Amino acid sequence: MDSRVIAELILHLGRIASGDGFVSGLTPVQWAGLRYFAQANRFSRTPSAFAAFHGTTRGTASQIIKGLVADGYLKQTRSKTDGRSVRLDLTKKARAFLGDDPIEALVRAADALPLRVRGNFSAVLQRLLGSVALEAGKPLFGTCETCVHFEGDGCCQEGMSAYECGFVKEALTADELEQLCINFESGKPAPTRVGTA
Ligand code: SF4
Repeated sequence: MDSRVIAELILHLGRIASGDGFVSGLTPVQWAGLRYFAQANRFSRTPSAFAAFHGTTRGTASQIIKGLVADGYLKQTRSKTDGRSVRLDLTKKARAFLGDDPIEALVRAADALPLRVRGNFSAVLQRLLGSVALEAGKPLFGTCETCVHFEGDGCCQEGMSAYECGFVKEALTADELEQLCINFESGKPAPTRVGTA
């Protein structure tokens, strides 16, 4: 297949999957915000990381966040160590809404693919994402297991955490290993998971 056709298909899929109007009272960009803050780790739930992920300016990202905070979907907390930085967390109201996400149709379509196809497709998309992000000078978000800063093997030794981030020098919980991170640096092969090969 022609490479341009592949690029057009990916763009078209993204456009129709994200919806073209209000869904449950939220616009496509507001849904993009909720989706981001639902999957980003605590180091990445900031206005600047969202702007980088969404490929937009700080000003536009701030407007989207302001609306979500005002409508009770995001809660803003000031950092105890640095009063200027804020962390944004999804509220209960937002979590209850996530099932209405317009991209659920795409999630169901992906779910219907055989496991092996899903694994290969995911690897191809990651590769395309890496190339495009590099060329555009954008950060490549990723998760801990394939990050060069990831330390630990899940076993607690005395005085040590089971998992740690070498970049921020903090312990990580098992839940955080699958969350998106702006500080991600690709370098480790993805672990082989039973049933996905
Ligand atoms: S190990 Fe990598 S992906 Fe995980 S929190 Fe640290 S920098 Fe982010």
